[in-house]
Amino acid sequence: MKLRLIAAFTTICIALIMTTGCISDKPINASSADEADDKTAAALVEPVDGLSSDFIKGMDISSIISLEKSGVVYYDYDGKPQDIFLTLSESGVNYIRVRVWNDPFDSNGYGYGGGNCDAANAAEIGKRAAACGMKLLVDFHYSDFWADPDRQNAPKAWADMSFEDKKNAIYDYTAESLKFISESGSDIGMVQIGNEINGGVAGEYQSEQIIELLKQASCAVRDVSKQSGNDIKTAVHYTDIQNHDEIMYHVDMLKSAELDYDIFGVSYYPYWHGSMENMKKTLRDISQASGKSTMILETSYPYTTEDGDGFGNVIGGAEPVQGYKASVQGQSECLRDIIAAASEAGAIGVCWWEGAWIPVNRDNASNSTLWEKYGSGWASSYSAEYDPDNAGKYYGGSSWDNQAMFDFDGHPLDSLNVFNLVG
Ligand code: CA
Repeated sequence: MKLRLIAAFTTICIALIMTTGCISDKPINASSADEADDKTAAALVEPVDGLSSDFIKGMDISSIISLEKSGVVYYDYDGKPQDIFLTLSESGVNYIRVRVWNDPFDSNGYGYGGGNCDAANAAEIGKRAAACGMKLLVDFHYSDFWADPDRQNAPKAWADMSFEDKKNAIYDYTAESLKFISESGSDIGMVQIGNEINGGVAGEYQSEQIIELLKQASCAVRDVSKQSGNDIKTAVHYTDIQNHDEIMYHVDMLKSAELDYDIFGVSYYPYWHGSMENMKKTLRDISQASGKSTMILETSYPYTTEDGDGFGNVIGGAEPVQGYKASVQGQSECLRDIIAAASEAGAIGVCWWEGAWIPVNRDNASNSTLWEKYGSGWASSYSAEYDPDNAGKYYGGSSWDNQAMFDFDGHPLDSLNVFNLVG
């Protein structure tokens, strides 16, 4: 996701407003055509013809542990508290994605926020996902905080290393982290070597250096896969799929460099990244040119225009984008159509980004205390030590609560059940 857009929006906002078992036979909600436009209505979507039975239906819930520590409770479809991992599994989700930052803590041990997502956090999430039969997608940012097209800051520990030492560091860190996460009980199915790496990786911005780091990371994933006996796929992750030529440049660069990987993944947010037709065409072109699988590693869409935690949202949703309303039905149709487009393009899966990042406190009174203490906002004040010009200035809560698939109080929306309904 694009930190630059969060930061730009939060600037405006500040100016304006100053472990459980997993057996279930729960029924899924029925649908009603008459309710289709209501924000709280049951979702109605058509199945996707020809959808592969092993299509990846992913959900990124990287911040979930920090949210639970902050007191957030999630419910089942009947309104009873229930482990969110079970609810996701019941809804058709078969893959959990989690970002990993090397060391998202300041010199006093306080978390930068955004879920304080280190390897230990990933291990806990992976273990709970595995208990509910879901695989884990490990998303290495190779940074101590958000990595995106505008920033690929090296982890603190790597910042002053020679390039040769950094190459060794990325191999060792990748291998050791994956072993730790795997041995903690996770079922790792896929690993991203970098996050939205259009502009660089781990503080390196030249193609030659980027490729060398990716090769080391890929080698580490392959080695852990062999040693563990698990078939772990390697994915690369880019964004701005609307820029067809730029994407194809990266595809060609990886091919020329003979990078060993399995999946060329992209972010696709309908309000930023062009039409679904263009997305579908570009995925086909990527697959044809690279000979690799493709996947949408991040997507989302709002179900409401409301903000739930007093910290403004990145996407307001006041105007429909590509015809999709900011309603439960609109969100449902949007996800269904993204899955359909991806499937028609031969992609292997779609992953929703941070679908449970809801408010930590409905009265908003103690939000900032919880965000600071548990890292449940997008950034805490402690991030200033690492990122003084951005997160360190504009820290706060969830800018994504209206794009979750749970309401502000933790009840699953019917849009979550689209993962079942598509087939
Ligand atoms: Ca918000």
